[in-house]
Amino acid sequence: MGRAGHYNRPLARPEEVHIAIRVMKFGGSSVADAEKIRNVARRIAGAREQGDDVVAVLSAMGKTTDGLVALADEISSTPAPREMDMLLSTGERVSCALMAMALHDLGHDAASFTGSQAGIVTDTAHTKAKIIEINPERLLSELGSGHIVLVAGFQGMSTDRNVTTLGRGGSDTTAVALAAALDAQVCEIYTDVTGVFTADPRIEPGARKLPLVSHEEMLEMAASGSKVLALRSVEVARLHDVPLHVRSTFAPDEGTWITKETPMMERAFVSGIAHKSDEAKISLLGVEDQPGVAATVFTALADSLINVDTIIQNVGVDGRADLSFTVPLPDLRKALDVIEGMGDRLPHRETISDDQIGKVSLVGEGMRSNPGIAATMFRVLASEGINIQMIDTSTIRITVVIARDEVERAVRALHEAFDLASEAERRGV
Ligand code: ADP
Ligand code: ASP
Ligand code: MG
Repeated sequence: MGRAGHYNRPLARPEEVHIAIRVMKFGGSSVADAEKIRNVARRIAGAREQGDDVVAVLSAMGKTTDGLVALADEISSTPAPREMDMLLSTGERVSCALMAMALHDLGHDAASFTGSQAGIVTDTAHTKAKIIEINPERLLSELGSGHIVLVAGFQGMSTDRNVTTLGRGGSDTTAVALAAALDAQVCEIYTDVTGVFTADPRIEPGARKLPLVSHEEMLEMAASGSKVLALRSVEVARLHDVPLHVRSTFAPDEGTWITKETPMMERAFVSGIAHKSDEAKISLLGVEDQPGVAATVFTALADSLINVDTIIQNVGVDGRADLSFTVPLPDLRKALDVIEGMGDRLPHRETISDDQIGKVSLVGEGMRSNPGIAATMFRVLASEGINIQMIDTSTIRITVVIARDEVERAVRALHEAFDLASEAERRGV
């Protein structure tokens, strides 16, 4: 089936017309105003002039999506998800149309397309849709005519023919999925940092760029809050083996390559620190300790499309147990409504919630074989006087739930304690 998997590649593409396709994705800050759009146009034109066929995926200009969300909030406290998608999808269309104009002025043939026109088919989960199929014929024929193709990121058309969006940061996913469907040589993610760093450089100024990160590490980092790449985009890259290159829009330097695995020599105990500040915790106290309770709660939350993360259940005493879990802060109200709506189906004493939490995670391939990392992490947090509320681990990640106002301090203390700045240096950054 090849790496395009379930994305429909054209049935026959004669060998002799094999084309090198380059997918270039530009984030919101890269296209924030007219001058930046002209700058990106020059970069896209440069790639085309080198002989590549270029598909550029664009985000909405600057903070446009935030502005549209705020506008919807002003109109209604419960906007219909279908209409949110009609609204939010407009932002990336604006960028694409303007980019086409800028490219025309540079003497290039360019045409802009909505997600739907680009053949991106999604499921029907408005505002969090997943791409289920891509029909790339239209884009391939445009490329075949020598045009630069511009695709509005973060959107598609659902199987019931409505406009959908892919969740915040979803233009990354559009780009990687198109790269898979078009069998592109590379998917380049152009952004306002020069690559993937050992921590968010906005929080830790001493953070260093990592030259190579494995798919698995990047998955853990994205899931743990490193928003430089949307989680779903990394999942698609891994599934379809798409070479990913995260790099700067504003500088020519090599960025970070995300690859299947990193060579042994490159593996650090801890590669990076990720954090999330927009989380909330729900605790169900005195839950009847019987089979099926957890299944009932988490099925109801999943049916409402709420992504539950860290889960802890303590040992039951007197036939009752406490169950705590985290949800994204924007989903807290909905999650509490779901729990309240369960009534007698969820026999428990009390529900409490905390909307002031955050998470800090250490991620690294080398953690598999180094059991001491967790202990060091906890010691560092203790010496900072930071209380750990929950702990969650995978083979290459340790996550702690702490108070939101201590997240940034924790990131900086851990970066220093694990010497990540010089660790990255040792790896040749
Ligand atoms: P874009 O608009 O280009 O999609 P994003 O704002 O979504 O850009 O992602 C880039 C931002 O991700 C950076 O400005 C940086 O603050 C943040 N970030 C968080 N963690 C990391 C990390 N480990 N490495 C690099 N950037 C990170
Ligand atoms: N514009 C959307 C957002 O701000 C999608 C993206 O930029 O990737 O989330
Ligand atoms: Mg982004």
